Amino acid sequence: MTVVERGIYRIELNRALCKACGLCIAWCPQQVLSADAEAYPVVSNAAACVNCKACERHCPDFAIEVIAPMA
Ligand code: SF4
Ligand code: SF4
Repeated sequence: MTVVERGIYRIELNRALCKACGLCIAWCPQQVLSADAEAYPVVSNAAACVNCKACERHCPDFAIEVIAPMA
């Protein structure tokens, strides 16, 4: 599990569930995610995340989650 918390929203990637299909990277409108050498997503621009959840909704394996801070 990789947890990135540099931006407003916390992005959790579960590599054990991820199959490196790249859908989350392709659907993110903010280019928050990029691929590592093995095509797994990494959070490369956490500050740009707008919590639209396109990555979550398109992940077929429930391997990525974006969490808003507590109010
Ligand atoms: S919630 Fe939206 S902006 Fe944030 S990483 Fe996912 S697709 Fe990109
Ligand atoms: S959409 Fe899901 S399974 Fe595909 S690369 Fe992203 S986190 Fe991994």
